[in-house]
Amino acid sequence: MSEHKIPLAGVIGAPIAHSRSPLLHGHWLKKYGIAGYYVPLHIDRSNLEDAIRTLPTLGFVGVNVTIPYKEDVLEFADSVTDRASLIGAANTLTFRNDGKIHADNTDGYGFIENLRSGAPMWEPTIGPALVFGAGGAARAVIASLLEAGAPEILLTNRTKNRSEGLRSDFGQKVTVVDWVQAANALEDATTVVNTTSLGMKGGAEFKISLDRLQKGCVVNDLVYTPLRTKFLEQAEKSGCHTVDGLGMLLYQGAPGFERWFGVRPEVDEELRQAVLGA
Ligand code: NAP
Repeated sequence: MSEHKIPLAGVIGAPIAHSRSPLLHGHWLKKYGIAGYYVPLHIDRSNLEDAIRTLPTLGFVGVNVTIPYKEDVLEFADSVTDRASLIGAANTLTFRNDGKIHADNTDGYGFIENLRSGAPMWEPTIGPALVFGAGGAARAVIASLLEAGAPEILLTNRTKNRSEGLRSDFGQKVTVVDWVQAANALEDATTVVNTTSLGMKGGAEFKISLDRLQKGCVVNDLVYTPLRTKFLEQAEKSGCHTVDGLGMLLYQGAPGFERWFGVRPEVDEELRQAVLGA
């Protein structure tokens, strides 16, 4: 970044008005006294590559990518990290000085950091992890759980062939469990994660009984509106350690902010409140 330019960053998606990333990065820019801006950018698919390639010429140092473009951007990035390739999606683009686009995925990092801070006793290696859902978020969760040493992933999804697809991508440590049998697999799991959109405010509720959860297991819901979901309430009643999904959103933003603005930002209660205040 040349010294006389104000660094710009943002988040691209369609729609984008709902994104909390501007609040997140805006809070950090203010906290660290950085003369930069982070803006929401609604880009149409027909214009996606041209628009992104123009951004560095306007002073952008990078952008986050959200629905529906996380997969598309891999097609024209000039370099892609191994983890983004494995996940098949990128959420963080950094524009190099020569205009080249570097793509990374920090969702798995955000997921793991959230668990480590919300449940400091969490030990991913001691037993299988049960993952509900096989969409985009599940790919990042599974990749990072395997990297953290989970011995087995029990994967269950309403649409079974989607979980089977993930099994062929991630290998033999993934065992596909029928959606209707998921409650039975709970007793084997030491980590349990909901990556489905079930339980989101205004949407369908998570209805599978969690009665068979092991006491003391660590349970995380990626849904964070509401913060305390029925899924987490059920897990709490079964004596599990619960971690809400907001921290994943906060932590996934940190590596991009550091690359773009040169400061490793802190995730703390003040930030949670700033992002929740929307
Ligand atoms: P996605 O790719 O659209 O996947 C949606 C998942 O939810 C699929 O597994 C889908 O199952 C399942 N699902 C949806 N409706 C269902 C229903 N009625 N019954 C059973 N399963 C249902 O979405 P995504 O990007 O993975 O995101 C999933 C959730 O994670 C969203 O709520 C998102 O907000 C949240 N998320 C949170 C963070 C964070 O930072 N905390 C980050 C990323 C995502 P089928 O395959 O059967 O359709």
